Amino acid sequence: MIDLDAVRADTPGCHDLVFLDSAGSSLPPAPVLREVQAHLQRESEVGGYRAASERADDLAAGYAVFAEFLGCEPHEVAFTDSATRSWLAALDAISLKPGDRVLVTEAEYHSNALALLHLGHQIEPIPSDETGAVDVQALKAMVDERVKLVSLVHVPTNGGLVNPVKEVAEIAHSVGALVLLDACQSIGQLPVDAAGLGVDIVSGTGRKWLRAPRGTGVLVVRDQVGLRPRLIDGTAALWESPDKFTLSPGAKGFELWEYGVAERLGMIAAARYAMSLGIEEIAAAVQERAKLTRSLLSEVPGVTVHDLGSRQCGIVTFDVAGREAEEVRDRLWERGIAVTVSYASSTQYDMTRRGLDKLVRASPHYFVSGEQIARFADALTDV
Ligand SMILES: *Cc1c(COP(=O)(O)O)cnc(C)c1O
Repeated sequence: MIDLDAVRADTPGCHDLVFLDSAGSSLPPAPVLREVQAHLQRESEVGGYRAASERADDLAAGYAVFAEFLGCEPHEVAFTDSATRSWLAALDAISLKPGDRVLVTEAEYHSNALALLHLGHQIEPIPSDETGAVDVQALKAMVDERVKLVSLVHVPTNGGLVNPVKEVAEIAHSVGALVLLDACQSIGQLPVDAAGLGVDIVSGTGRKWLRAPRGTGVLVVRDQVGLRPRLIDGTAALWESPDKFTLSPGAKGFELWEYGVAERLGMIAAARYAMSLGIEEIAAAVQERAKLTRSLLSEVPGVTVHDLGSRQCGIVTFDVAGREAEEVRDRLWERGIAVTVSYASSTQYDMTRRGLDKLVRASPHYFVSGEQIARFADALTDV
């Protein structure tokens, strides 16, 4: 069980605000904030190079922290500056030829789909089942040896569902396709175990459910994939002589030399914090709050919850009859409640299929109290 008083004491922002936007950019807990502030302070005293070298061991330890957190080996972890950067770095390393098929989820995130479309790839959305999740049977029927890549969104940016991963990975692997898991909305919210789920590549962000600073991301590339980066810099390879260089082993080759050291330290602190609470406990607490949110919202006149999936997560999406989503968001903000708006342009296949244009999104993390969720539902009645 999450100790609500303790996590709230660690989260200064959650007292004045009913914070329901951890799917957007969450409130970092005190240990993360301390780490970032202390490092910036140190940079101001001794300069960035010296400050980083003082924390070299802690930065190096970050790979093992994330390996434990995401179910892989430390050398399979690369730190990046966003989930999209991770995803693009992986895509760039996958060699796709004309005629190769790429499958995506119907809830595919715009940045993933746009990158593929811009490169001229033919992408095929895997149909959804009657609950809205990836239809595993339909996938089985549509794969063949020409499928080289399956991009799977674990938890879509809106819609509330959790996609089956293991089943999809098994089918993809049966025809030799790679599985790239977009775990941007699941890392920090649900257990993400790369080895257990059988996925080849995982991309994720720091700022959402993990509660790390902005400008942080992670990429896992499993050894078995043998994926090597195309675009490299001086940290990804060692230039030994004018005509000889050696690529860094493992996922390290996907990193660049320059990064925000304070943010990286904050990202590592955030993963340690999540593990100290227990990811299963976090998942249970988030589920419970999302369930309460859906049930209270369903009683508010004019509110329609638009969530999908038989397995649901901490993302609750809804609209209010006769009110624009932005108006709902702004009126709630005036009452000290933070939600966000999710647009069709973020998930075209899914939203178009459902005839939706935009939705209000509320994403309660474990530090939100039941009383605050009730206050949110009351405020909506007002709105
Ligand atoms: C937010 C989001 C991303 C992109 O994450 P960035 O850190 O902004 O690059 C990717 N996929 C999903 C499902 C998301 O919700």
